[in-house]
Amino acid sequence: MNLRRVAEQAGRDLAGAPAEDVLAWAASTFGSRFAVASSMQDAVLPHLASRVAPGVGVLFVDTGYHFTETIGTRDAVAATLPVRVLTLTPTRTVAEQDVEHGPRLHDRDPDLCCALRKVAPLDAALASYDAWATGIRRVEAPTRASTPVVSYDRGRGKVRVAPLAAWTDDDVRAYVLEHGVLVNPLLEDGYPSVGCAPCTRRPAPGADPRSGRWAGLAKTECGINTESRTR
Ligand code: SF4
Repeated sequence: MNLRRVAEQAGRDLAGAPAEDVLAWAASTFGSRFAVASSMQDAVLPHLASRVAPGVGVLFVDTGYHFTETIGTRDAVAATLPVRVLTLTPTRTVAEQDVEHGPRLHDRDPDLCCALRKVAPLDAALASYDAWATGIRRVEAPTRASTPVVSYDRGRGKVRVAPLAAWTDDDVRAYVLEHGVLVNPLLEDGYPSVGCAPCTRRPAPGADPRSGRWAGLAKTECGINTESRTR
């Protein structure tokens, strides 16, 4: 299968399609070679995927720096949804990374820290798949504003599916309410965007919801969803 051609055709055919249809296409086209990535900020994408593809793999990268609430959300998803949650870990523990690079790498070189603790584990896991789904949405950030529903992930040589690309915040809230979807408790505690604990703060009232991520730095993305990444 020529994944680039498949992605380009599906990108045209499925632009504007409901999230369920996009996930159903990915599941039927790629079968067990398709998985869903989740940060466990909420369980909207795993919930949607479980409805159209019960037993689908859900990839969660445990960086070693997550909030307890995020790990709890992962465990609750695994216990309540018909999905296979696969926890991915970096090759080095935080303690081993501290020995190699010095403590608090996230303060000194967050790009390297994310590359080692987020991007590399996901890249390694995706070697076993042809297609993966991400929960990113266009309204979340200028860097995500042109996210296609289906595209070719050049850096990884995979098909990338973003079923929620066109969803607004209200769409997410409505889906959560309608289906009783699990959400990370931190969303109700002043964190509209949840990442690793050392790099996530509560934004100031009225500020950009993602401004609490890597606050004070130009960094806005961990690299997992960066379009221009290449190998
Ligand atoms: Fe490291 Fe922060 Fe990136 Fe997590 S978000 S991997 S702690 S730099």
